[in-house]
Amino acid sequence: MEFLQIEKIRSTQFPLKSLIGKLSFELGRNPKIEKKANYQDYIPKPYKSVLIISADFELAWAFRFSKSQKNPVENALEHGRLTRKNVPEIVKLCEKHNIPITWATVGHLFLESCSKENGHAHSDLKKLDHFESPFWKFDNGDWFKDDPCTDYKTDPEWYAPDLIKLITESSVNHEIGSHTFSHIDCRESVCTPDIFSSELKKCVEVANDYDIQLKSFVYPGHTFGNFNLLPEFGFTSFRTNYLNILGYPIKKSNKLWEHQSTAEFDIRHSWSIKYQIYRYKKIIDKAIKNNTNCHFWFHPSFQHQFVTDVMPAVFEYIDEMRKEIFITTMGEYTQWLNENMSK
Ligand SMILES: [Zn+2]
Ligand SMILES: [Zn+2]
Repeated sequence: MEFLQIEKIRSTQFPLKSLIGKLSFELGRNPKIEKKANYQDYIPKPYKSVLIISADFELAWAFRFSKSQKNPVENALEHGRLTRKNVPEIVKLCEKHNIPITWATVGHLFLESCSKENGHAHSDLKKLDHFESPFWKFDNGDWFKDDPCTDYKTDPEWYAPDLIKLITESSVNHEIGSHTFSHIDCRESVCTPDIFSSELKKCVEVANDYDIQLKSFVYPGHTFGNFNLLPEFGFTSFRTNYLNILGYPIKKSNKLWEHQSTAEFDIRHSWSIKYQIYRYKKIIDKAIKNNTNCHFWFHPSFQHQFVTDVMPAVFEYIDEMRKEIFITTMGEYTQWLNENMSK
């Protein structure tokens, strides 16, 4: 996540890098196209390609320990506000073109409110110890120290029951997945199985209150780990972002499916809007031509300009091509894989 942001800044500063980005796209190096002899087994008939769009839905939770910011909490709040501005417009656009999104949602967003007990937030949860990673630094206080412990009307950057209802009550068949309860670092070196389980258990509980069964998981900040615990909580698949790939899902030994991402939806200031639209359309064309999956992902806190200037054209194109593309969610496609790949 943050690595990609740093990359973006670099490409803005260095026009050569933006040119190389264009070149590597035209040469078919990014995204990489995977070849598979039994590719047809992965694509439901009569389609030529599978398209998934997933969102890391987190409001302020993702960026509060960011090392690249002077004031990470203020920056996190800004991400929360931008998400609130963007999501209703994205949901409308999805309705216009009947395109579902897999919303990997931070569990805390399901809450309408929360409060401190004996001076601590969420004392029922097992919490991370202090740690530092290349991108995050958590070196003082409690993991929930920035949680306002109020409600969604007072601090709308930390709770989102209203947005979750907007998504689930939409005419489009969106999926609500999980992004842990409090956007933790899931790597085994930082997160014990107890902490990971405690977070997932809480996610399952809060989603149950909405009659939502969580099936799809996205790791916060690409901190992959504790894979074997996911099925215990009902998850059937997870997303990885190791590289940008037009490829196929991978069945893991614990029966989970791994969905690999293809490209991030975001504004790139070094490229024109026209080129950015061209590029996303071309990725879709490549997926159809090569009979692969195409998995776009995004942070709904991206710049509003993406929603107004890029997304409408890309969604319109997906809609136009829907006879060729199985437009689906992580959960629905995983179910199809489980029903069809074992035969
Ligand atoms: Zn809370
Ligand atoms: Zn995240």
